[in-house]
Amino acid sequence: MLQRLLSDYDHSLNHSGVDGERLAKRLAELSDIGRTSEDGSYRLGFSAEERQAKELVKKWMAEAGLKVKEDEAGNVFGRKEGKNNLPAILSGSHVDSVPNGGHFDGPLGVLSALEVAEAWKDTGYVPERPFEVVIFTDEEGSRFNGGLTGSTAFVGDLDLERQRTLTDKEGLSFEQVLEKDGLSIETITNAKRNSDEVALFVEVHIEQGKRLEKNDLPIGIVTGIAGPAWFEFTFDGEAGHAGNTPMNDRKDALGAASAFIGKVQALPGTISNSAVATVGKLNVHPNGVNVIPGQVKLYVDIRDIFEGTRDQLVNEIVQEAEAISKQSGVDVTWKEMIRKEPVPIQSDLQDTFRKAVENDGVKPFYLPSGAGHDAMIVGRHIPAAMLFVRSKDGISHNPSEWSSLNDCVQGVHALRTFIEMSMDELSG
Ligand SMILES: [Zn+2]
Repeated sequence: MLQRLLSDYDHSLNHSGVDGERLAKRLAELSDIGRTSEDGSYRLGFSAEERQAKELVKKWMAEAGLKVKEDEAGNVFGRKEGKNNLPAILSGSHVDSVPNGGHFDGPLGVLSALEVAEAWKDTGYVPERPFEVVIFTDEEGSRFNGGLTGSTAFVGDLDLERQRTLTDKEGLSFEQVLEKDGLSIETITNAKRNSDEVALFVEVHIEQGKRLEKNDLPIGIVTGIAGPAWFEFTFDGEAGHAGNTPMNDRKDALGAASAFIGKVQALPGTISNSAVATVGKLNVHPNGVNVIPGQVKLYVDIRDIFEGTRDQLVNEIVQEAEAISKQSGVDVTWKEMIRKEPVPIQSDLQDTFRKAVENDGVKPFYLPSGAGHDAMIVGRHIPAAMLFVRSKDGISHNPSEWSSLNDCVQGVHALRTFIEMSMDELSG
């Protein structure tokens, strides 16, 4: 990974204390933790691998002269004091991944913020107010079908009742998983940070789409973050012998589920240009070649950057499930797993990013985020901004996820300038 990152690096991007080689080495070193046989990343939230990644970043934070602290949710902070004891600017992302994910989603945001601190150390810049590099725990949520756990605890929105009901694939409860990571469900809510200690959160993240690539731009300013809604649908039919049950005497759960999936794919385009819906997970029971499926559980992910159209899409998808149940005689039940509000990004913050980007000679480009991020959770309580870095072919949550080092370093420069401008603007 290191060689590939460095192979086409434009060394003229090393200026103002920012060091592309240092960023590349750290991205590569993190990528070795939990590396899969397909060269992907496997670092579930609260796992030994996520822990190992956090400890490595903590070491780098200390080397960069930051004061390292971990809260009761496992969120990590590396703090640089400012000239004044004012509310801090925070920047970072996560180091957990989906199973067999990529090496940029999360780590790039953490290491970009760390690179800003490194740059300041090299140039002797002292910010007006404190700055903290952040790692939020368990952003992806692959373990418990949830996610954004660390940032949710940080803002004090963690629903302990719900967390207590969660179990991972290995049968471990959320409580047990926390204990294995040296944390406790009894104290996790203490991670709530007083919101007047924080002035602003800013997250650099790979785009996970193709808009920047299509526009031939390294970085883009995020205008808002789509809120996802996740639903579990259960189709209950009747299992039976595939040979002995006539076609007109069946309650085929998978047949009904298939009709439903077709509708899920067709509906978003009828509602909004930015709405999307996906069935990405399906369990068939008993799942035998010669058995009519008796039960299907499937999961639908529904998103839009506007709450109104997102919720309209949710309603129409549920209505389709009811209609298909009536037609097929297969019972359908559903439960809402998560429903997160979309978060628009303040126009003054977008404007500061515009100035920062133009300052580096890059054309400003605005785009929405279809994916949920820690900035979405934090942004409900504290002003939050986001910058996207171009993703090769838009691929993400996959070992082939890639962003060039040039683009990553452009992101660091924009982040550094944005934070420096915000330090002054917020102070004034
Ligand atoms: Zn991410």
